[in-house]
Amino acid sequence: MCKPVYNEENKYLGKRGINRDITEQKRGAEKLVKALFKAEESDRLKSSFLANMSHEIRTPMNGILGFTELLKELDTTEEERQRCIEIIESSGLRLLNIINDLVDFSKIESGLMKIVPTDFDIDQQLEELYSFFKPEFEKKGLHIAYAKSNLSKKNLLTTDLEKLTAVLTNLLNNAKKYTLKGQVEFGYEIKKDYLKFFVKDTGIGIKENCKKMIFERFIQADASFSKSFEGSGLGLSISKAYVEMLGGKIWVESEYGVGSQFYFTIPYKAL
Ligand code: ADP
Repeated sequence: MCKPVYNEENKYLGKRGINRDITEQKRGAEKLVKALFKAEESDRLKSSFLANMSHEIRTPMNGILGFTELLKELDTTEEERQRCIEIIESSGLRLLNIINDLVDFSKIESGLMKIVPTDFDIDQQLEELYSFFKPEFEKKGLHIAYAKSNLSKKNLLTTDLEKLTAVLTNLLNNAKKYTLKGQVEFGYEIKKDYLKFFVKDTGIGIKENCKKMIFERFIQADASFSKSFEGSGLGLSISKAYVEMLGGKIWVESEYGVGSQFYFTIPYKAL
């Protein structure tokens, strides 16, 4: 006996085996089209990522090769030699950053990234970051401020220090890159069972419709605009993966043209 078939709205759809369930077929087709669009979107993203990546690799590579050629010339003055060496060094560092991003990204994607927790004094770590970044910000004419926490005693945190430092370093590097004038402030607040870190800048800001997307892999807020800034578009997706591996959340608040505030949380137990 064939049973009558009803859809969700309880409409009679005929007998199974005689009249086919059109609604189900339609849904299947819609799912297929959606998956196709998703695949196409991801293909498009990958192509734009590869194009950006080859630009990101070629530019410093050309810098290294071009300025090495100049160094070989016999009539180069001492001042020119120094300048060449500086460019070769900064191009090498830029390449190293890209390679590190790519290696970290593929480790995350393949599930090979492991968490190694240790106990450390968080204030001491942030002081060290501040000392490292201060001259870099000053070179660009920016002010950097480290806002100390609301407790004067030592704050011991147990988490993966390398990953926490990688997230803060990435946010501070972005703040430096996307801020043309003004200041960047970073620090953390102690909440009930977590620490809330922040990096606030007075930079170019992020448009409303880009705020979620920038944490996705390969995404740059405005591809044409970001072209004038170097970068792989992987930094924030790596940061998001790290923060989530450590049990926290990451988000951004921003006003376009005014500045951005990046926040993330890390679980914390007061000792
Ligand atoms: P990128 O290597 O391009 O900087 P990220 O993943 O670190 O890649 O950042 C993704 C995008 O988010 C950037 O291309 C930029 O458009 C935007 N962005 C990140 N940080 C900031 C910031 N502090 N101010 C404005 N835009 C930012």
